[in-house]
Amino acid sequence: MADEALKRRGMILILSSPSGAGKTSISRAVLQEENEQDAGSIHLSVSVTTRKRRSSEVEGVHYKFLSPRQFESLRDHEDLLEWAEVHGNYYGTPREPVEAALAQGQDVLFDIDWQGTRQVLEKMRADVVAVFILPPSAAEQRTRLERRAEDDGAVIKRRLANARDEIGHWEEYDYVLVNRDLNDSVAKVRAILHAERCRRVRLVDLPEFIEVLDRDLAGQP
Ligand code: 5GP
Repeated sequence: MADEALKRRGMILILSSPSGAGKTSISRAVLQEENEQDAGSIHLSVSVTTRKRRSSEVEGVHYKFLSPRQFESLRDHEDLLEWAEVHGNYYGTPREPVEAALAQGQDVLFDIDWQGTRQVLEKMRADVVAVFILPPSAAEQRTRLERRAEDDGAVIKRRLANARDEIGHWEEYDYVLVNRDLNDSVAKVRAILHAERCRRVRLVDLPEFIEVLDRDLAGQP
């Protein structure tokens, strides 16, 4: 197929949502299924954060956990593509691994909030596809947050209160989906990814490909 023959610039697939919308489950399944189909095609951008590690989280896999001082040093050296304060902690995306992946034609999945999305869109619009995920209802969102049972009551309360602010930014995203069913949402995100990979602007050697095709067609008897 033509698109498999073409060299492609990688893209940034942003998933944002209020806490409890199911974004983490969706992003894990998307990464797993995509890499089963095409190993190494997309990976998660591992953010740095000053938040405390949850017991289920692994340093360097889910986040790199830093002290506020370490975080500020990275930020002040312009080593972060974007950063924000979310629910009272700092979060940021290390710049260098993202730039390297894009140049190699690999996609990077960002699990970041609206503040970070806005910064990445301002800096790299052509490389970014931003997807916003909504919970089906407030009741379902609360249930999901409580089921996680890794955050205490005060943290859950704060996150639910912040959800309204997060949801208010839906218009800044390219795609919006309501997460009623995990499998269905995963399929939708993968469909978005596959369609966006075919965008003309990402196909860096398309002019050469067309030129060769045209020459061959002209030479046909
Ligand atoms: P959590 O503490 O639940 O892992 O994440 C809290 C919020 O911070 C989520 O909305 C998540 O998307 C966001 N977040 C995680 N990493 C980053 C990051 O590197 N930058 C920004 N701006 N937000 C992030």
